Amino acid sequence: MALDSKVPKGPIKDKWTDYKNQINLVNPANKRNIDVIVVGTGLAGGSASATLAELGYNVKAFAYQDSPRRAHSIAAQGGINAAKNYQGDGDSTYRLFYDTVKGGDYRSRESNVYRLAEVSANIIDQCVAQGVPFARDYGGLLDNRSFGGVLVSRTFYAKGQTGQQLLLGAYSAMNRQIARGKIEMFNRHEMLDVVIVGGKARGIIARNLVTGEIERHSAHAVVIASGGYGNVYFLSTNAMGSNVTAGWKVHKKGAYFANPCYTQIHPTCIPRSGDYQSKLTLMSESLRNDGRIWVPKHMEDVLAIREGKKKPTELTEEQRDYYLERRYPAFGNLVPRDVASRAAKERSDAGYGVNATGEAVYLDFAASFERYGKEQAKIHNIQNPSEAKIKALGQEIVKAKYGNLFQMYEKIVDENPYETPMMIYPAVHYTMGGVWVDYNLMTTIPGCYAIGEANFSDHGANRLGASALMQGLADGYFVLPYTIGDYLADDIRTGTISTESPEFEAAEKEVTERIEFFINNEGTHSVDYYHKKLGKIMWDKCGMSRNAEGLETAIEEISALRKDFWQNVNVPGTSTEYNEQLAKAGRVADFLELGELFAKDALVREESAGGHFREEHQTEDGEAKRIKEFQFVSAWEYKGEPKDAVLHKEELAYENIEVKERSYK
Ligand SMILES: Cc1cc2nc3c(=O)[nH]c(=O)nc-3n(C[C@H](O)[C@H](O)[C@H](O)COP(=O)(O)OP(=O)(O)OC[C@H]3O[C@@H](n4cnc5c(N)ncnc54)[C@H](O)[C@@H]3O)c2cc1C
Repeated sequence: MALDSKVPKGPIKDKWTDYKNQINLVNPANKRNIDVIVVGTGLAGGSASATLAELGYNVKAFAYQDSPRRAHSIAAQGGINAAKNYQGDGDSTYRLFYDTVKGGDYRSRESNVYRLAEVSANIIDQCVAQGVPFARDYGGLLDNRSFGGVLVSRTFYAKGQTGQQLLLGAYSAMNRQIARGKIEMFNRHEMLDVVIVGGKARGIIARNLVTGEIERHSAHAVVIASGGYGNVYFLSTNAMGSNVTAGWKVHKKGAYFANPCYTQIHPTCIPRSGDYQSKLTLMSESLRNDGRIWVPKHMEDVLAIREGKKKPTELTEEQRDYYLERRYPAFGNLVPRDVASRAAKERSDAGYGVNATGEAVYLDFAASFERYGKEQAKIHNIQNPSEAKIKALGQEIVKAKYGNLFQMYEKIVDENPYETPMMIYPAVHYTMGGVWVDYNLMTTIPGCYAIGEANFSDHGANRLGASALMQGLADGYFVLPYTIGDYLADDIRTGTISTESPEFEAAEKEVTERIEFFINNEGTHSVDYYHKKLGKIMWDKCGMSRNAEGLETAIEEISALRKDFWQNVNVPGTSTEYNEQLAKAGRVADFLELGELFAKDALVREESAGGHFREEHQTEDGEAKRIKEFQFVSAWEYKGEPKDAVLHKEELAYENIEVKERSYK
């Protein structure tokens, strides 16, 4: 099948406007006759459901949690990008577009990203109108901070709880429509298959997780907004329930899956503490605005710290290696996530990791305490403040910005990060891969859409911070509501789709049989036993550092593990009650298939991109030789110059990157 991205013709800056002027529309009266299923009510699905219902469509929304408010989007801490240029520091739609494409190692679809940058400013207005309490500066204006890989401050935030506040906004918008009857909300329902009738997505099979009942739901279109699949690694920063099932089911029914192996490894997570951990915790990237990353310069200090004979605070400035500031002076600690993660791994692999496992670097706020403290002393006219006073004043400012993150760190690690530097290490965080979509956000199954983290299009091989919330809300509030109308315009006379068809019958049968298998298979190992084993293969052989031999072994190991799973998995309880293990069994079964595809994808990509590098690219002196393939949209769009090479000479030189240009198709 030839993939057609359906990207409109014309200059990139005009594509979205021209497209909107030309697409088919559905008039308000006809929208009342059209049903849309939205699977997932995180930021992407929640905003899409609310907007589609506001437009007049009948929406059926599904979530496996007990409320849309509990979607994984709630965990987002740091912020959301928008090209508002409120700081007057040179931001623009073009700059946000450029940063995002570059940040993704030139593997994003440029037209989608340009559109994303264009609508980013509307998102902030929409959310402010909903009452989202974004942080404000002293004068009451919306505040911004900076995130990795950019040279401007364009990130809007609500302390360290931006996702939660945005989700409450989307949820309020949904609730208005639930109250009007325009959204029928199915909480605690899990989609287990998509139903294709006449070549089009016309419904889903869902399981009521409380009663175990299997249900058929029909619609004129199905939107997958089911989030990311980082939990394929078992340990990740994702919510424990995050899974690939909805995306995988549509893939198995014919939707293409793109870039499965592109995983974001976030540099700022609390290091793993042992083998019995089931979750990793993110410390927001926003902390890199004020925290400096370092390891000791000398091995004797590393060893003394590990043995508890020295404290990091005892090391002088000269004894510290602020390796990001040393290597990348232009971006310093705010290099993109992939660069920061690789650098932390490189220092740890070289033996400079500072905790017992040797997998940790410091994130230190001492310099910020001093900087902010001195400023506060001046503001409050405190003459000759002591060092302790300066530190205390500075800590208050840091607390106001990131207090909940510091508290979370202390609760988990049992160390006070105001007094000793935090320890951090890279961890699996986000999946850039996902269901392939065209410019309309439609998958290769007609009438089946994928939005938010579930799709693949906007972040290439590495997502820049604060851009997932932007994408989810752009898709849901401002893109899908237009593009879906173009498709649904053909359905105004179709009428209600019946669920009494052979296609629904067959899909329901398949789902029921699988559930019966899990309940009746009296195996010996728990679902988690398989999930953990899969996660270990994934992290060891398909993680940040990959080689052909390891990936080939991973493919064999995952395939053998899958076989074992289908023979020996044990699921306690029954299918007619709330049974978390049963739900998880289905999700792990899908991870076991995805994992193999993931490794195959990584094997055939002989490239180093994003957070991953192929060890075959290792040069004699131990540096990774990364190969970048540039996809210049056109000379006009990049103003005729290979900007990346100019802007990032220092990175290219340091990392020994070979630059290959390829033309854009
Ligand atoms: C700790 C953490 C912090 C982050 N911080 C930031 C940040 O500061 N800025 C930023 O831009 N991004 C951040 N991200 C990324 C961002 O939060 C996510 O990418 C984004 O929220 C995903 O939104 P979504 O709507 O696509 O999916 P989700 O919020 O994951 O929602 C998925 C929805 O799908 C439903 N679902 C899934 N499968 C099924 C099924 N089979 N049947 C029925 N329903 C289903 C779920 O119930 C849920 O409602 C962070 C991520 C993490 C892990």
